[in-house]
Amino acid sequence: MITGNTKLLGVIGHPVEHSLSPLMHNAALEKLRLDYVYLPFPIEPQNLATALDGFAAIGVVGFNATIPHKQAIVPKLSNIEPIARAVGAVNTVVRKDDKWIGTNTDVEGFIAPLQSLDRDWSQTNALVLGNGGAARAVVAGCTQLGCASVRVVGRNLQKLEEFRDSWQDSPLSPLKVNVQVHEWGYIPEIIKEANLLINTTPIGMYPKIDNSPINADLFLHLPKDTIVYDLIYTPSPTKFLQYAQQADKTAIDGLEMLVQQGAAALKIWLRRETVPVDVMRKTLQQQLYK
Ligand code: NAP
Repeated sequence: MITGNTKLLGVIGHPVEHSLSPLMHNAALEKLRLDYVYLPFPIEPQNLATALDGFAAIGVVGFNATIPHKQAIVPKLSNIEPIARAVGAVNTVVRKDDKWIGTNTDVEGFIAPLQSLDRDWSQTNALVLGNGGAARAVVAGCTQLGCASVRVVGRNLQKLEEFRDSWQDSPLSPLKVNVQVHEWGYIPEIIKEANLLINTTPIGMYPKIDNSPINADLFLHLPKDTIVYDLIYTPSPTKFLQYAQQADKTAIDGLEMLVQQGAAALKIWLRRETVPVDVMRKTLQQQLYK
């Protein structure tokens, strides 16, 4: 129920209609019986600064940022947490002492399902498929886990080199970001050493569910203990994860990352140690896999 005291949270994007965040966050707020509401705000790129001023004026507590604002918002905030500076994108903003503070909870979301596994990450070589926005959170996450190496594969050499160079003097230091980049054709050569294989491309995402970034036969070359992680959450499992399961690998889909990045944001806005993650997960599962 909306009251005179209802506090505002939300997500800015353009488009934003497809966002699952309102569903997930409102389910959690309802469970906590808090007088908050989380709304979608369609903000066109040229209106971002005006929207921030308006949000400050009406007392918005915090919000998520999605495409096309994740990078554009960085110079408009008073303070950016080191993790968001390292990733180069902000997905969560909170109002604190009359200032907008930006952070990035995708990294925490990405590593959450990995941290629940019993693994010696210092013995783990990560192989990341794709070098877009999500790959940046993945590289930061693999670095935080302490992976022995992080190899990133892409289809455009110039973009790959820019990606690699962007990690020099990273705000993640003293953690050393050790990224090597390779063109797509090198996969058969380097897959043998990958104990953690992550798809950050949209290949295989609904509706093109029969596609996979790599073919089934390549999974036979993976080490025995490899974890295969697809950031995609529809369908579940993707063709990529089906191949992984057929090759007897541990398979993780993108749903938990989505849930955990949201839970991390909600903890920041509400200044709480815990939020009802189970409710958030279940709400998304019901919506996505009905
Ligand atoms: P993005 O910035 O557009 O990056 C996509 C990357 O995939 C780029 O490197 C792109 O290469 C590459 N790529 C696309 N099509 C390809 C193809 N046919 N062959 C080889 N490489 C290809 O997108 P993003 O924001 O990183 O998102 C990527 C995926 O992650 C999406 O499916 C998204 O839904 C998912 N995601 C999930 C979560 C979650 O919470 N689970 C969070 C973020 C993203 P070029 O640069 O050469 O075009």
